[in-house]
Amino acid sequence: MPTYDYACSACGHRFEEFQSMSAEPLKKCPACKKSKLERLIGPGAGVIFKGSGFYETDYRSASYSSDAKKDAGGGGGGGGCAPTCGTSDAPAGCKMPKK
Ligand SMILES: [Zn+2]
Repeated sequence: MPTYDYACSACGHRFEEFQSMSAEPLKKCPACKKSKLERLIGPGAGVIFKGSGFYETDYRSASYSSDAKKDAGGGGGGGGCAPTCGTSDAPAGCKMPKK
């Protein structure tokens, strides 16, 4: 059964609902009880979109943080991964020898 995303245009409430493909779209908002619900994405598409979107966000933040580490390591300055590198306050996993 696909998951449908609904948003209420009256109060902004958002939620997911498992429904069969043939089920009538929901109308009544469970939060404010007004018939202002809108189904956001078509059948099936919501699940795929959400999965890949989550993955992309994850991937981007991972590559971003590794880039940031590269900059900090090669760009002079302290030469470490954090301002506390080489001290007893260095973050766990820091490769700099302690002074
Ligand atoms: Zn509502």
